[in-house]
Amino acid sequence: MTHAWRDTISLTGEQRLVRDSIRDLCSDFDAAYWREADRSETYPSEFVDALADHGWLGILVPEEYGGAGMSTSEVVVMMEEIAASGGGFSAPQAIHGGIYNSVPLVKYASEELKSELLPRVASGEASIQSFGLTEPNAGSNSTAIETRAERTDDGDAYMINGQKIWISRVDQSDYILLMARTTPQEEVEKSTRGISMFLVDLADAYEQDGLEIEAIDKTASGFVHSFEMWFSDLRVPAENLIGEEGRGFYQVLDGLNEERLVIAAECVGLGEAALERAIDYANDREVFGRPIGANQAIQHPIAEAYARVLAAKQLVYAAAEELDDTDQKDAGARANVAKYLAADAAFKAADAAVQTHGGFGVAREYDVERYFREARLTRLVPITQQLALNYLGETVLGLPRSY
Ligand SMILES: Cc1cc2nc3c(=O)[nH]c(=O)nc-3n(C[C@H](O)[C@H](O)[C@H](O)COP(=O)(O)OP(=O)(O)OC[C@H]3O[C@@H](n4cnc5c(N)ncnc54)[C@H](O)[C@@H]3O)c2cc1C
Repeated sequence: MTHAWRDTISLTGEQRLVRDSIRDLCSDFDAAYWREADRSETYPSEFVDALADHGWLGILVPEEYGGAGMSTSEVVVMMEEIAASGGGFSAPQAIHGGIYNSVPLVKYASEELKSELLPRVASGEASIQSFGLTEPNAGSNSTAIETRAERTDDGDAYMINGQKIWISRVDQSDYILLMARTTPQEEVEKSTRGISMFLVDLADAYEQDGLEIEAIDKTASGFVHSFEMWFSDLRVPAENLIGEEGRGFYQVLDGLNEERLVIAAECVGLGEAALERAIDYANDREVFGRPIGANQAIQHPIAEAYARVLAAKQLVYAAAEELDDTDQKDAGARANVAKYLAADAAFKAADAAVQTHGGFGVAREYDVERYFREARLTRLVPITQQLALNYLGETVLGLPRSY
């Protein structure tokens, strides 16, 4: 995509480098590539390999461990660009975990584990694509997770038992960052305590017969597979505990705002991809002897969606840029506002694009139906729009807690 209307925000030199490099790389993966990946629900391995070959999977890994040592300001550009190139929300989602799961490792893993694993993550040789939090009985109430990790009698390991649901990219990952209770909820003062983070080697888990998985049949983001997982007496070495026992939930919260901004950037990119298609079709398609874009009923929803997408984009970029100088609470406010507005903007853009295409709005050939399915999904993940509003109502505006 080369439209000038996308490039109105001023970028730093490094952001410009990221934008131009990713734009160039993505030009090798056209609309037909993503359409086929979506139709056949096939993981876009060629695309991910191309990113890995150019070192992009290590964008957040510090230089001392072989990565690019960049920050969220650059990742938002990268992910927006991938989505806007025509990959939609699913394309950045194909690598999202691989990039963000390195963050808690950098912050909390032992030096030994970091030196062993992070260079391999940066080169694309090893992947930590999966993050396992959600459970059937917990959902949005994530501290209600029941999966247990109990220290073995010899103290050398933890035994993991429980169930997870909706865990993405397990089939494309060497490791999963798994959240499990080391102390039952009834025995902790606050529900956020007693949860720990583990690095689980998936090949070892299958070998032990300690893990079974089953893919969930879904209608959006089909080429990024999500799974139900069952853990039974899975032995995980004690050195694979990441950070402090019982503090895992706080370790997740620590990187949450950054990650949420990146999700918002992916929504912005999706909205831009949808807008581009809408604009092209509105200019090209003639009915009643003139381009349909001359009708305000077509033009205004597109222009309105553009205004919303641009507003969300400005918020995302500014919040990412100022992240280091913002306290946790303000960063949380901005990240939740950004995710909420960007998901809604993407939805409005995709809806306008479908309507603009008339009957072809549901033809796979024009891609906007895929963007629409994905835009709907962005209002559900990684947290629902309601939960983002709950955060704003309670934490920012001082309204009573609703749950
Ligand atoms: C495609 C996909 C990929 C995913 N990938 C991962 C992954 O890799 N790892 C992972 O851990 N999880 C993953 N998830 C899970 C995702 O984070 C959850 O689906 C999401 O957090 C919502 O939880 P839930 O589905 O259990 O909905 P529920 O919590 O059951 O909520 C159902 C509805 O009730 C609303 N609701 C619930 N409580 C309240 C309240 N107090 N106030 C207002 N509204 C409320 C919700 O907003 C929602 O609309 C994925 C989900 C999907 C669909």
